[in-house]
Amino acid sequence: MFGLLGTFLALFALAQTPPASCVAGQITPPVTEGPFYKAGSPQRTSLLEPGMAGTKLTITGQVFTRGCRPVAGAWLDFWQADAQGKYDNAGYRLRGHQVTDGTARYTLLTVMPGEYPGRTPHIHVKVRAPNGPVLTTQLYFPGARQNQGDMLFRQELLLQIRDTAAGKAGTFNFVLDSE
Ligand code: FE
Repeated sequence: MFGLLGTFLALFALAQTPPASCVAGQITPPVTEGPFYKAGSPQRTSLLEPGMAGTKLTITGQVFTRGCRPVAGAWLDFWQADAQGKYDNAGYRLRGHQVTDGTARYTLLTVMPGEYPGRTPHIHVKVRAPNGPVLTTQLYFPGARQNQGDMLFRQELLLQIRDTAAGKAGTFNFVLDSE
C-alpha cells in the first residue's frame, strides 16, 4: 500500500519535472533590447486576444540563479511581433509581464511571432531576480530558416518546441547572473 503510494508520488514528481534543466554557471546570454521595448506592460500570463491571428504558443519554464537555485518572484517582461511581424508601439498588444510562482515557474500564452525584415522569429524578454540585475535577451525557434543568417541568433537561446493539439508548446529555463 505504502509502496504503491510511493510509486504514484514518484511518477507524479516525474510528470512535474520540466524537460529542460539548469546547468550551474551556464548563464543565459544577453541579446540587445532592440527598438521596440516599452516599459509599463500589463501584468498577465496570456497575451492572447479574441481574433488574434497566428499559431498558438505556450512557453513554460523556470528561472534559476547561476548556482541553479530556483527564483520565486522573478520578474519577466515579454514583448514580441504579431504573426505578421508587426509590433504594437501604440498600445501593449503582445506585451506583458509576470512573476514566477513559488517554484520559480512561469507560463506564457501567446502566438508564434512572424518574421520581419532582417530578423529571424524571436520573442524578447527581460528577466530579473528580486533585487538582481536585469537580463535582456531573446528566445528563438528551432528550424527557423533565417536563424543562421541572423547576427543576433544564439544556439543557447533556442526554445525546445513540440507540437500540441492547440498549437505549439515551448520550454526555456533562464539562468541569471544572480546569487
Ligand atoms: Fe524584435
